[in-house]
Amino acid sequence: MPDTLFRKVWNAHAVRVLPSGQTQLFVGLHLLHEVTSPQAFDMLRQHSWGVAFPDRTFATVDHIVPTNTQRRPFLDLMAEEMTGALERNCREFGIELWTPDNANQGIVHVIGPELGLTQPGMTIACGDSHTSTHGALGALAFGIGTSQVRDVLAAQCLALEPLNVRRIDVNGRLARGVYAKDVILTIIRRLGVHGGVGYAYEYGGSTIDAMSIDERMTICNMSIEGGARIGYVNPDATTNAFLRGRRFAPAGGAFDRAVGWWRELASDPGAPYDDRVTFDAAAVEPTVTWGLNPGQSVGIHEPITASADDEALAFMGFTPGGRVNGTPIDVAFIGSCTNGRLSDLEEAARLVRGRHVAPHVKALVVPGSQAVSREAEARGLHQTFIDAGFEWRGAGCSMCLGMNTDRLEGRQMCASSSNRNFKGRQGSPTGRTLLMSPAMVAAAAIAGAVVDVRDMLEGVPS
Ligand code: SF4
Repeated sequence: MPDTLFRKVWNAHAVRVLPSGQTQLFVGLHLLHEVTSPQAFDMLRQHSWGVAFPDRTFATVDHIVPTNTQRRPFLDLMAEEMTGALERNCREFGIELWTPDNANQGIVHVIGPELGLTQPGMTIACGDSHTSTHGALGALAFGIGTSQVRDVLAAQCLALEPLNVRRIDVNGRLARGVYAKDVILTIIRRLGVHGGVGYAYEYGGSTIDAMSIDERMTICNMSIEGGARIGYVNPDATTNAFLRGRRFAPAGGAFDRAVGWWRELASDPGAPYDDRVTFDAAAVEPTVTWGLNPGQSVGIHEPITASADDEALAFMGFTPGGRVNGTPIDVAFIGSCTNGRLSDLEEAARLVRGRHVAPHVKALVVPGSQAVSREAEARGLHQTFIDAGFEWRGAGCSMCLGMNTDRLEGRQMCASSSNRNFKGRQGSPTGRTLLMSPAMVAAAAIAGAVVDVRDMLEGVPS
């Protein structure tokens, strides 16, 4: 019988159906970071439990690490304390950990794929909402809470409700200046921030097929913002090429055998879906949020709908029928697990080369990992950004959220390549976030206001 990747992988990892109706699912890879793991380790100690599969468990620090200087001890005492706690926990339980003094450190959803830990057909868990990112490689990747982190540490299993599968096809060619970020913001806008509740999102169609793994990660990353529990793309030749030669990927004959298995796991033609939705890539515009969730967005030349949510409008300082285009910004942030990868930095660097950040704008580029940082520096991208007036920082979550020293102040307006525009997300209770693609952030930094990136592409090599 033809079936979806979701059901094939789910069934392959199902240990049993629990009396609650949930499925006990074996977890192939468990990723940890400093914020959601300390209490889970404490609970293990209280019960005198060990970690069931330390060789399937890896840890990094990302949320709290300072990005201006990463020398230890960190000047931020909280960051130092949380990093020290993770170091002690990983040492005690035999888990490999990457701190800023290690070349593998970075945002958990950037380093998993980068190191080849994330592979098709895996079940993956991490105590972080944006674990859905890993679905870009054909994995079922679940963001979990702290008590579930404890469960996975102790038993390598999760109790989960089965999901319906919604197939989302995006077909056609994206226009120049329109990116994966615009596609996922458009999907969330149309289906709603709760539209995916109870679903796994399977992305496909000619637009997704043509995307790189980096772009697919941007799409899958924000599945959770559309309410979906997970998002994934079926593995294909692009997936195989991405994984070949990575540190934790199978090597030699084992890689070829794995590719054969990954091929079988992809959803079959004629697989049954619980719902199907189609998008036309040619209709997607550079998209920006105007409100307080990622579904409150408009195409750059569209007015904000007259029936828009009053509270969100008032907080953001917009009016019904008004426009985001032309809005002055104070801060520009390029980074995060959504758009802090090498290809994001390359695209932004192409745009800013030979230009300069507007005098009133503070602009940051924060690589998603040390590997991204090294590669960007080897290509001279850091110098391009610095010459243009951006600050070039160390790897971490940085201004995606207010858990480190990179924060908005007061009512600052930030053009951000991250994934959440909730109230207070960037550290100031009154700070305002406009989500957009990294190229749009770069354009806003240069112009000092939100603009259509397509107007700045003339003469920029593609
Ligand atoms: S970059 Fe932002 S969304 Fe991603 S893991 Fe860090 S804090 Fe979470």
